[in-house]
Amino acid sequence: MSATLGVILQRLEPSWNIQIFERLDAIAEESSNPWNNAGTGHAALCELNYTPQLADGTISISSAVHVNEQFQVSRQFWAKLVTEGALPQPKAFINATPHMSFVWGEANVEYLRKRYEALKDHPLFAGLEYSEDATVIRQWAPLMIPGRRKSQPIAATHIDAGTDVDFGALSRLLTKNLVANGARLNAGVQVKHLKRTRNGLWELSLRRSIGGTPVTPVTARFVFVGAGGYALGLLQKSGIKEIRGYGGFPVSGEFLRTDNQELVAKHAAKVYGKAAVGSPPMSIPHLDLRIVEGQGSLMFGPYAGFSPKFLKTGSVLDLFASIRWHNIVPMVAAGLGNLGLVKYLIGQLAASPAAKFAELQSFIPHAKPEDWYRITAGQRVQVIKKDAKKLGVLQFGTEVVAANDGSIAGLLGASPGASTAVPIMVGLIEKCFPERLEGWRDGLVELIPSYGVALADDRELAAETIARTAKTLGINA
Ligand SMILES: Cc1cc2nc3c(=O)[nH]c(=O)nc-3n(C[C@H](O)[C@H](O)[C@H](O)COP(=O)(O)OP(=O)(O)OC[C@H]3O[C@@H](n4cnc5c(N)ncnc54)[C@H](O)[C@@H]3O)c2cc1C
Repeated sequence: MSATLGVILQRLEPSWNIQIFERLDAIAEESSNPWNNAGTGHAALCELNYTPQLADGTISISSAVHVNEQFQVSRQFWAKLVTEGALPQPKAFINATPHMSFVWGEANVEYLRKRYEALKDHPLFAGLEYSEDATVIRQWAPLMIPGRRKSQPIAATHIDAGTDVDFGALSRLLTKNLVANGARLNAGVQVKHLKRTRNGLWELSLRRSIGGTPVTPVTARFVFVGAGGYALGLLQKSGIKEIRGYGGFPVSGEFLRTDNQELVAKHAAKVYGKAAVGSPPMSIPHLDLRIVEGQGSLMFGPYAGFSPKFLKTGSVLDLFASIRWHNIVPMVAAGLGNLGLVKYLIGQLAASPAAKFAELQSFIPHAKPEDWYRITAGQRVQVIKKDAKKLGVLQFGTEVVAANDGSIAGLLGASPGASTAVPIMVGLIEKCFPERLEGWRDGLVELIPSYGVALADDRELAAETIARTAKTLGINA
């Protein structure tokens, strides 16, 4: 997120002095590290949580269209940087990987058929295919059919336009470009505190992460708190009133991973299933081809867990330390209002290794435990906020929280995450720099040609944009 914002701002205002502070020795070692997230280029091509079935039985596609629009914005920005040579070979961070949805059971098959009907003619979902035929699905995902009962109703959708993104590589490449153009990266330096100076600037207190020695404080006219799970605490420390009432609920997770190339060769897709009724969107099981540093692996999960840390490298005191008088009520209310999530987490914590492996076998019936090993995923800190009716709600998306004078802003929350970093950061710019927007419009259009236009409303522009970015990024239209 920080690297994306930095690159955009540096292009809009090349004379601005940009500094990045990273508490770890290297960047992109938390949520953006490729093994800490699933690397799905979220465009709602396969994630069923974006197409809920309404009470009248119809499928709502508005969230899916919105997420896809957002991903097209990211694609345009990355393609522009590749065209200019600011990002190198796109294969270093993005790879064509078909996206599939896969379900079993009559009700789910009917749901998927209706979802396909609702999306197939939409300009952003061109190329979506549907099948209930095991032979066809086996061609799309050869590991997923052998061993399955013939009588089991199954269905899948498949689309070539899907992607796998190594967000760690992308963050490093963007930062390299930022630094090459004059920004300064201070790794191993932790921001401990932020305070407003008398002349309206922000002063950052800094310490070396190893040894804790103080580093000379810096002042800035504008601060982006792109600290992942630690953004909440830093925004609280800044004392801005806009953060009052916000809290965070951490969810940890694991994936199963295999590097067995015989298996990898037989699964060239990201396949998303359907979450159990009542369980949260982050519980959707998926079986992914991952391409990291040119090497393929498969990853299955996520299996949720609980840890009070707000970063993978955080402290067990993080959750406790985030409690303030102004967020106690929303946190308690959100807890009571989300007993389904609590139940889901308890179920996941109590599940035996065999029960967890059985979930993978519902995707690959012949999966063998010796091929797979567990890896710990990144921490998600879900946003809790005040709510007029319910007192407090838990939300699964991301939220930009900014001071009303636009001098400081941070990003809370996890999903859809890195895929939508570009539109989220553009939204942050619009929120924090409204008076400069007119002057920046041409610069934004240069970076994102469709800036200000909904592709969903312009079939021709959508097709042209998708084809152009696909060609530049070496992915499928
Ligand atoms: C299990 C899981 C699966 C996911 N799957 C996907 C997916 O498939 N597709 C997708 O698009 N998104 C996915 N996401 C979301 C995505 O990973 C995140 O939205 C994205 O990586 C967040 O980027 P960020 O820059 O905000 O945070 P991070 O990458 O976490 O970076 C924050 C940085 O701030 C540093 N920092 C923290 N505090 C301080 C401080 N006080 N001083 C200095 N530095 C500090 C940290 O060390 C870290 O490097 C997933 C997330 C998780 C956890």
